[in-house]
Amino acid sequence: MTETTTAAAQDTLGRPAPGQRHVVAALFVDFGDKSRPPRARYECVPCNYASPIATGVNAVTAFVATAAHEHRITCINYQEAS
Ligand SMILES: [Zn+2]
Repeated sequence: MTETTTAAAQDTLGRPAPGQRHVVAALFVDFGDKSRPPRARYECVPCNYASPIATGVNAVTAFVATAAHEHRITCINYQEAS
């Protein structure tokens, strides 16, 4: 017996964690489907930053791994007042 399984990614990213009301930045991920490539973007509310949209599996994977960290390096809201 042969069974064909289609792997479907769950859209669970980009949602704020429960109990975390102060959301200042968000990572949006659209996993797409057979006719649409996956896409991802990152937004930071306080500094009005919106990243370019990453498109394609490899681009999205790399983007998700680095977007938040890379933005924090330059984001004024993550700079601690000294
Ligand atoms: Zn920012």
